[in-house]
Amino acid sequence: MNSKWYKDIPVSINNAFGDPLTEIQIEDTIAKINSLKNHAAPYNIITKAVINDEIYSKLKDVEKTDNFVVMYSLTGLDEGGYSFQERLETIELLNKLFGKVIILVRPIIQGRNDHYKNLEKIVKVAKNTSGRLITGAIHDEFKRKNVKTEVRDHLVEICEKNSIKYFHKSSCAAADITNSRCWMHDLQKPVNLDVVERLGYQFNLIDDRICLKYATVGDLNFIRMITKSYILTENVLSGYNLLSISNDDYKYEVSSSWYSWSNNTACEINCDYCIIHSIDYLDKECQIGVKPSDIEAKSQKAFKMSSEYTEMLKKGKFISQSIRKQLGYNDVRNTQICKANAYL
Ligand code: SF4
Repeated sequence: MNSKWYKDIPVSINNAFGDPLTEIQIEDTIAKINSLKNHAAPYNIITKAVINDEIYSKLKDVEKTDNFVVMYSLTGLDEGGYSFQERLETIELLNKLFGKVIILVRPIIQGRNDHYKNLEKIVKVAKNTSGRLITGAIHDEFKRKNVKTEVRDHLVEICEKNSIKYFHKSSCAAADITNSRCWMHDLQKPVNLDVVERLGYQFNLIDDRICLKYATVGDLNFIRMITKSYILTENVLSGYNLLSISNDDYKYEVSSSWYSWSNNTACEINCDYCIIHSIDYLDKECQIGVKPSDIEAKSQKAFKMSSEYTEMLKKGKFISQSIRKQLGYNDVRNTQICKANAYL
């Protein structure tokens, strides 16, 4: 029986509504980072904030470990009224405090920040920080993803010209910088089946693959992290990343790369493209996730998730176009190639 399985779950801190390095969140962010100092998997913050002297001084209390990863989301869109130069100064301070900062270009919006000069400017920042960049998702002006892949081609071309290591998923970049396996792509025969059972997921094994009876897209991500294997399901409950182990007190969310442990609260940055409030379960203040070691004690059994679930989450309703009986992540999301081992 593996009772310490949660130590291998990659965690993102305060990545719901609200930025981890703003005044509202900073104390909580530091407490969470420090509580994960013995965590075995990578844990990160992703920020767009411009920090002041007070926040910089508080950040000196963060205990640094090899698994802690700082990502800065840089778009050239001057979110919150802060200029590119001001963000550059924050990135330099974070780099000074924590070593390597990975630059994340998210979002790129057609007609706003997708021009070559802007992309070049961002890549130059990556060159002077960790030499690593995550290409992020390309949106059109209506917030639809992945509509203009030639923008990504431009970004890749500029990275190659500047000898920058580029990645399409934050998991690949974090795996590279922490010398870990890529938990998104590097998959094997399932382990920790006892944990999946204890969390109350119903499943069969089909050709050495776990097939969940019911799953949200978040469940596919979460069980992949726990079992280090590719997961199928007979029924997709919702396209959301919300987990079936959520209950009235605790909501759990797992993206393709990270388990979220977050205060979903106010955000001082107020990006005009923010989509968080269009997600039903994030439109009010709430806690997302708990300390990983508390998950088993503070969640409901997944099989208790009722059919009312999809009613509650209408916007996350998922209708499959696939003719396959069992669906996996690759049927429900756009996949990206792994770049974690591309630069060894
Ligand atoms: S407004 Fe939304 S996208 Fe912008 S920093 Fe806050 S949570 Fe993130």
